Amino acid sequence: MNYDAIIVGAGLSGSTAARILADKGKKVLVVEKHRHIAGHCHDYRNEHGITVHTYGPHIFHTNNEEVWKFVNRFTDFHYLQHRVLSYADGQTIPFPINADTINQVFGISIGVDEVPAFLAAQVAQSTFNDPPRNFRDAVVSQVGERLYSLFFEKYTWKQWGRDPALLSADIAKRIPVRSNRDGRYFSDRYQGIPSRGYTAMVDAILDHPNISLLLGADWFEIKNDYATNLTIFTGELDQFFGYKYGKLEYRSLNLVLKTFDMESYQEAPVVNYPNDYDWTRITEYKKLLDEKSPRTTVCFEYSKAEGEPFYIVMTDENMAKRERYIGEVEKLEAAGTHLFIGRLAQYKYYNMDQVIAATIEKVKGL
Ligand code: UDP
Repeated sequence: MNYDAIIVGAGLSGSTAARILADKGKKVLVVEKHRHIAGHCHDYRNEHGITVHTYGPHIFHTNNEEVWKFVNRFTDFHYLQHRVLSYADGQTIPFPINADTINQVFGISIGVDEVPAFLAAQVAQSTFNDPPRNFRDAVVSQVGERLYSLFFEKYTWKQWGRDPALLSADIAKRIPVRSNRDGRYFSDRYQGIPSRGYTAMVDAILDHPNISLLLGADWFEIKNDYATNLTIFTGELDQFFGYKYGKLEYRSLNLVLKTFDMESYQEAPVVNYPNDYDWTRITEYKKLLDEKSPRTTVCFEYSKAEGEPFYIVMTDENMAKRERYIGEVEKLEAAGTHLFIGRLAQYKYYNMDQVIAATIEKVKGL
């Protein structure tokens, strides 16, 4: 069988690309090495009626109307304005930093109009390079050293296994600093979780007569068996090019699930642990979809260097290597034979909506 395109990976990027092409009448084959679809947003309902995110918590959020319209073709959403608490100094504190965080940490009660001056005073007592060129300096330049060391420094060491001063300042852009009392993790207009889960959403995206799916198959092993004019690759960028410019680092997670005989384990769906214990955060899954059960399943996240690639690692060295690989990508994309999309293949710290937006953009241009 001849396909108009072969798509490597059945995660969000691969599925979105498959669907856009299928809707245009193209016949595509999606090859996935895991035995399930939905990539790292895969989820399943466990024996307690709780939807577990196999690869750690995923909360959908976007300001992009086109992306929101696209996902809503395939699922209803359970609307959730996601909140996170950070366990620091023996108490749970609203995070990211906002007026309430500051009042709780410093035992004061300043109003929202006083927050900018308060933070400016914190920053003035701190040392950092201006303009900031790494994660540590990017955070300290906004909130000062005290709040940095309470909420960011050790969390970042745990998550990335290295000094925060060796990581890109861009990572800091993920975490807002607010002078108001908005206690949400994200401020995007649209936020929620697919009502029946991400796996069901991706299943609906792939449900098209022009899409064939091959699960449990490693494309690197079977690629010579198929002829196609277009390969859309969503796997690891360095692997595609045989590591010719060296290995890119990816960060993995050890996810430990525990079920407790209690209705509620913690006050919020996610509690971060910057300073205590070895895990970075605990997610209580039932709180994401507001599921009812006499039990509760929680997930402890431990970061690790090896294993299933979850994150790209934004150090200068990795980003320099990335540039060289992207040079190769651009040549192949210009020739029209290949497209590289998604977090792993573009080596970008994308959120789910950014993956879909980038896919729509690239596939549109074909
Ligand atoms: N971060 C932190 N403390 C926190 C939460 C986040 O220092 O309580 C830093 C940390 O370096 C983390 C990054 O901000 O890796 C991005 O956080 P985010 O919650 O976006 O991570 P993800 O959900 O992608 O794991």
